Amino acid sequence: MEHIDTAVIHRFDTRSSRPCEFCRELDPQFPERRPLDQMVATSRRAVASAHLTEDGYVRHRMLELRQKTSREPVTAA
Ligand SMILES: [Zn+2]
Repeated sequence: MEHIDTAVIHRFDTRSSRPCEFCRELDPQFPERRPLDQMVATSRRAVASAHLTEDGYVRHRMLELRQKTSREPVTAA
């Protein structure tokens, strides 16, 4: 288990956040993320900017980009 900064956790109300369904579906490493990196604000859609942490945001964006590139013709051999 990674170290979790409790001060960071207490800054967010866990009742107003939920796991990001987009990341949960697309990221095989999702369960290994720190809990806060899995969470998005409940009031928002499952988009990168709804993530509570920068790491969660970055991982979400990487999944989006990977999905986008996989739809385009692959030029690399
Ligand atoms: Zn996400």
